[in-house]
Amino acid sequence: MSKSPPCRAFIALGSNMGDRIAMIEQACREMEARGIKIVRTSSLFETAPMYVTEQEEFVNGVCEIETTMDPITLLDTLQAIETGMGRRKIIDKGPRTIDLDILLYNSTRFSDRRLDIPHKLMLEREFVLRPLCQLIPNEYPPFSNKPLTYQSYLDFLPPSDPSPTAITPISPGLPPLTPSDPSRKTHLMAILNVTPNSFSDGGQHSPTDLRALTETVRTFIRNGTTIIDIGGESTNPTSSPVTAEEELSRVIPAIRHIRSLPEASNVAISIDTYRAAVAEAAVHAGADIINDVSAGTLDPQMLATMAKLQKSVILMHMRGTPQTMTKLTDYSTYKGDVLDGVASELEERIRAAEDAGVRRWRIILDPGIGFAKNQGQNLELLRNMQRLKGAAGLGYLPWLVGTSRKGFIGRITKVERPDERVWGTAAAVTASVGGGADVVRVHDTKEMGQVVRMADAIYRTGGR
Ligand code: ATP
Ligand code: CA
Ligand code: CA
Repeated sequence: MSKSPPCRAFIALGSNMGDRIAMIEQACREMEARGIKIVRTSSLFETAPMYVTEQEEFVNGVCEIETTMDPITLLDTLQAIETGMGRRKIIDKGPRTIDLDILLYNSTRFSDRRLDIPHKLMLEREFVLRPLCQLIPNEYPPFSNKPLTYQSYLDFLPPSDPSPTAITPISPGLPPLTPSDPSRKTHLMAILNVTPNSFSDGGQHSPTDLRALTETVRTFIRNGTTIIDIGGESTNPTSSPVTAEEELSRVIPAIRHIRSLPEASNVAISIDTYRAAVAEAAVHAGADIINDVSAGTLDPQMLATMAKLQKSVILMHMRGTPQTMTKLTDYSTYKGDVLDGVASELEERIRAAEDAGVRRWRIILDPGIGFAKNQGQNLELLRNMQRLKGAAGLGYLPWLVGTSRKGFIGRITKVERPDERVWGTAAAVTASVGGGADVVRVHDTKEMGQVVRMADAIYRTGGR
């Protein structure tokens, strides 16, 4: 008997009870455990309830799947997952832990007592069309007599108020990032280098000096830091790599210590590493975010580890290794357009991460200022961040921008010592916020905390 090829279907994901993102992530794992392959996911959107409006906001998304199940078996499987996850029907269109609907199944039309495919109301629902249009904007509804793509249906919907907000969770203690909200506040990420050879603090933070670490963390928080980025190996081109053991012995005690501080309970910790083993140990020690400057290119295990750990991840654009990157600044394949280059190469990394099982709503991007870019290219990126944010395949993703004390700032302002590049950094941070950064990564939290508050007041007015 020949095996039939898998069918391509689209599933709508929805939850408005409990930890809504966790519910959706669990539902995805349950689908995979039953042999359904999740090919791609949309972003997740927070949406005001439709129909029954006196209930919690929904989180909605869509995933593309491959399955060998026929439509009814697929419906049975999805309903078993819903029931297994504690869904009880109380009122029609009312609160639910999880709702899994079949939107499309190949280009089949199917209709019986229990199942309608395509889903009957999908074309009138923004909470379905918006995420679906991240996946198949230019496809047509099957058997439709109108020449309208899903994107045109979305564009013709009356504007919703409030409009759905894309959300990316960062940690249990903080609200999610909302990259499409024009009045959001920029997050301040403080750099904590626990390296003896770090280019900026010269090993000021020795991993065994826990009292000094406590003071540093308190200062960070006082200055408005919401995320602490802990790194155990410098990515400065002139410093030499350390072993995984060495890196672990630096970062793990620091993470454990910060997690033990009650005053830091709402702060997110991100681990700055390209090693899967370090990322995994860091998450077990209490890290919330994995920040990989190589976006999974330096350690073949990294993307799978990110998917397994189910944490949010930062994928940075760079080329080569920290040792070779300074020479890799040729963007002629993109007609010299560094923004195009960064956008397409990041899109490739997103695709690789999704193939490994990282969900799109868990991805934060970083243009990699100073990594495989020359001075003109760094400035070009900062000047045109908005264009990068709006690039075709990158919609609704949050951005981290790191310019703090970098070499190009030193060259432009003629300041040799990195720790004296504060004013140049302030200008670059202002440009980052103006360009739409969701997070800025800085050394000088006191000064940049003020800069970010000021820049937010100028640029993040919510259109008012
Ligand atoms: P809506 O279908 O308007 O989004 P709902 O998801 O809140 O409403 P449920 O209580 O989850 O409604 O499902 C009601 C019934 O809808 C299910 O028992 C199922 O048999 C039927 N149904 C029909 N078409 C579909 C479909 N494409 N996907 C999932 N369920 C469907
Ligand atoms: Ca539904
Ligand atoms: Ca349903």
